[in-house]
This record gives sequence, C-alpha cells and structure tokens, in this order.
Amino acid sequence: MKTPSPFDAIIIGSGIAGLHSALRLAETGRAVLVVTKKKIAHTATNFAQGGIAAVLSQTDDVEKHSEDTLEAGAFHNNKRAVSYMVKHGAASIRRLIEYGVPFATHGGELLLTREGGHSERRIVFVSDYTGKAVEEVLVKRAKKHPLITIWEDATAGDFIVRDGHCLGVEVIQEGEVTKIYASAVILASGGVGQIYAYTTNPLISTGDGIAMAHRAGCTTRDLEFIQFHPTAFHHGGKTRFLISEAVRGEGAHLLNSKHKRFMVGRHPRAELAPRDIVSREIYKEERDGPVYLDLRHKDPVKVHTRFPQISAALKKYGFDMARDLIPISPAAHYLCGGVEVDLKGRTSLPGLFAFGEVAWTGVHGANRLASNSLLEALVFSERIVDEIRGTVRGDKSMNSQINGPPPSARGTNLPPCTPSQKRLYAKLRRSLQKTMWESAGIIRTEEGLKKGLSEVKAAEKLIQNPDSLEGRELSNMLTASELIILAALRRKTSLGCHFRSDSED
Ligand SMILES: Cc1cc2nc3c(=O)[nH]c(=O)nc-3n(C[C@H](O)[C@H](O)[C@H](O)COP(=O)(O)OP(=O)(O)OC[C@H]3O[C@@H](n4cnc5c(N)ncnc54)[C@H](O)[C@@H]3O)c2cc1C
Repeated sequence: MKTPSPFDAIIIGSGIAGLHSALRLAETGRAVLVVTKKKIAHTATNFAQGGIAAVLSQTDDVEKHSEDTLEAGAFHNNKRAVSYMVKHGAASIRRLIEYGVPFATHGGELLLTREGGHSERRIVFVSDYTGKAVEEVLVKRAKKHPLITIWEDATAGDFIVRDGHCLGVEVIQEGEVTKIYASAVILASGGVGQIYAYTTNPLISTGDGIAMAHRAGCTTRDLEFIQFHPTAFHHGGKTRFLISEAVRGEGAHLLNSKHKRFMVGRHPRAELAPRDIVSREIYKEERDGPVYLDLRHKDPVKVHTRFPQISAALKKYGFDMARDLIPISPAAHYLCGGVEVDLKGRTSLPGLFAFGEVAWTGVHGANRLASNSLLEALVFSERIVDEIRGTVRGDKSMNSQINGPPPSARGTNLPPCTPSQKRLYAKLRRSLQKTMWESAGIIRTEEGLKKGLSEVKAAEKLIQNPDSLEGRELSNMLTASELIILAALRRKTSLGCHFRSDSED
C-alpha cells in the first residue's frame, strides 16, 4: 500500500545539482528530502577546482560562449540547450553570489580566468577550490532550511514505478530498505568515473543513476562520450588528483619525455586545445616516457598564491609546483551523455527529473567545454521550480525536518555482505576498472570494445541480483559500463572525446 509521504520531492544526491534544486524548491515552500549515499559533501562538486563559466565581461557575449561550447562538443550539441544555458549563466552566478559564494574579485569586479577551448576569460573561481567553496555554501544553507531534510549514508536503490509513472524510490539506510514516495523524484547522482582504472572522480561516482534510470525504462543518450582530463597528477603508478586546466590557462607548458613543448604546432591553441585533443596527444607521447606540466618560467610566488591547494597537495608528494616538472597523465573525468532530459529536466519517465552530470541535456555534445558542467547543473536545476510548482502540494504544515523515514514506510532488511562476497566484489570491481580503461578508454577499437563487453557480461553473470549495498553498487557499475560500451560500439567513427582508431575517417 502506498504510504502517505511528508515530502513533495525526493532528491538523490547532494552535489551542486541536488542541493541547488533542494534550495530552489524549499524556497518556494516545498518539503524536500535529500538522500546521499555517503556524507553530504562527498561529491564531485566538492572536487571541482577550476571554476564556473559564464558571460560576465564587456568583451564577451553569449554567441562567443555558445560557439566555444559547440566547437568543443564537435557540433554534436543540442543547440537549444546550449543557447538556454549560456543566456542564463550570468543570473545563476549572481544567485550563487547572493547565497554567499566568495568568488575572487579585484576592485569590486569579478576576476575571470580562462581554460582550454574558451576564446575569452569567462570563468569565475574561488582560488583553486571553487567546488568546495560552492558546496560549503549550499550545504550550510540546505542544513539550515526548515523544509529540507537530509539523510546521509542513505543509498537510493530502485525507483518505484507504477502505470508508467515514477512514484518514489527505495532508500537503503543501515541495511534497511524503505520505500519513499513523493510527487517528484529528482535524480542528481553524478557521474561514472569509478568504472575506470584511472579517474579524477570521488568514490561515489559509480553510475548508480544511469543504471537505476535504465532499469526503470528511461532513455539514455551519448554515453560513449567520456571526457578524459589531460592532466591528473600521476605518481607511483596511480592517479592522485586533478591538476586544474586553469594551471595551463595561467601559462603552464606541457613537456614530453625529451622536455619539448609538443602541443605547439599541433593545435592553434597549443596547451589550451580542447581536452580530447590534449589527452590523446599526451597518451601518444607517453609511449616514449612520462609527460610533465612545467611552470618553471612563471613567478613562483604567483604560482603558489594562485593555486594554494594544488601546490600544498603536490608538496605532500615532494614536488614544488613552481620549480619541479610535475608528472601528469590523462584520467576519466566527466560523463558528457546521460539520462535524456528535456530543457525542464524531465526524463522519459513521468515524475522523474534529472540534473547535473547524470543527465543528458545535450549541452556538452561530444565533448564538454571546461567549466560548463557546474554551470549546466545550476542553470537547468533552476527550472525545477517552474516545472514542479504546478504539480506538487507544497503543504507547509509538514515543514519541520524529519530525522528518519515515516514509521509506516519502514521496510525490509538487506542481508550483510559475507567476507567471501566482499572479496569477490572487490576483485570484480578492479578487473572492471581495468577492462574499461583498456577497452573503452582514450583510444578505442571495435575489437577492444567487444572484448570489454564480453568481460562485463561475464562479471554480470557472477553477481546476478545482489542483495548487499556493495553488490548493488558493483551491479550498477557493470550496467553503466555495458551501456557505455554498447554506445561506443554503435558509433563507428571518431567524434569529440569518442576516438575510434579503427574508423575510416
Ligand atoms: C576533480 C574534478 C574537478 C572538476 N572541476 C570542475 C570545474 O572546475 N568546473 C566545472 O564546471 N566542473 C568541474 N568538474 C565537474 C563537476 O564537478 C561535476 O560534473 C559536478 O560537480 C557534478 O555535480 P552533480 O551534482 O551532478 O554530482 P556530484 O557532485 O558528483 O554529486 C552526486 C551526489 O549523488 C550521490 N549519489 C550517487 N549515487 C547515489 C545513490 N545511489 N544514492 C544516494 N546518493 C547517491 C553522491 O553521494 C553525491 O552526493 C570537476 C570534476 C572533478 C571530478
């Protein structure tokens, strides 16, 4: 029997997309539940270093930002969505400033930086930890709002679908599965980076939302377009963390193993060419040895002041950002495709909305322009208010925060993962990450993709219908991987960040 719900909307995820939609809904009197599978700030949003792109200077205009977005996206973008996002960018930045995000300024004017693929300085930033600054402000406001209830360590399982409508979602907390119903369910669960051996993404980025939406019958689009960031700090055989594109924006060079600037002459923008091009050039250079970022020609004081967080993180590994060559390598970074939504964030399943990295709005096309993803999450999640206003109750009598599921909605318990299951899942997870890196990575072939697909299918057979959280997460990773490989097999020629070395063009 359907349990009456005290919530107008349930939001899955507490990154920029989830918390921004929660705040916008709560500000119009809607009672919102945010479920997030780890602690609230454990998000990709919190990792973002560079900034947020928007048209904010006298020399810039929406046409230029649109053109840069389309060019980076290999003109595979949804032009209407690009135009909508770019036009509303400045207003979204102003709202963040009103919320209290301390973007860098000089003499009362916003400071703007530049990143790869941008023809203008148009990126607002907070030092080299923009995402953390944004997340902190959103978390603080969401926690204070009486209409927003937040459940941490609460994992969304499957959507509750009846008669072609999404009515709610199963939530797993401390091993207990509870069905939560609401008029609107908002998926804001982020990306898929963890399916790859090398990634800049946090541990939560396991593609749950893609798998959940697929199981519920939603359409997904453009999943083959995985952006590989060219410059992740690579040390001791591992990807440690991202080194922001803003570092190249401020003049860092890329050197090959012979200490030569290899991007000059290969692209008119040299180190600031679109990410897919830089990633592939680095990948090729790596056959002859390590590739480095070089800032030795810059003023060391300025380098350390502009990038305090990156500089401190490098120091922990014994590197001086201004004086040493910094070893870097590409890593899986961003999912350009996702669950298909329209300009109002509506998926193909009525009642289910999606925003942020999990969603396909079409703005990124075949490759995302730097600093457009935080912007996309902001601009489109703004639309949720208009869309939901007419459809949900907004009963203010329910407006006190709720600390646990409504008693009548409490449900069944999940069995815990046994030690042998744990070992199996950890092993399968590592081998999936290797498979995806090798078969659906920076350079792809039909043969490699088919091999990858058969490995993913074999792993799926080993863990059919898992009960535990670990098993369910792995199952989601396998589903997302399978969908990505199938999309990559369908696209036989190279486009944007999908590169087929066996294609005819
Ligand atoms: C290192 C790094 C640097 C970046 N730098 C920039 C930048 O400078 N500019 C820019 O525009 N973009 C940048 N990006 C991309 C950008 O940060 C992300 O695309 C964006 O933050 C995604 O926001 P989101 O709200 O969609 O997802 P996230 O911020 O990843 O949040 C996802 C949320 O969903 C939750 N979740 C997932 N699955 C479940 C589940 N089953 N149940 C419950 N909760 C779940 C997670 O716990 C998390 O709270 C960067 C990304 C990385 C990794």
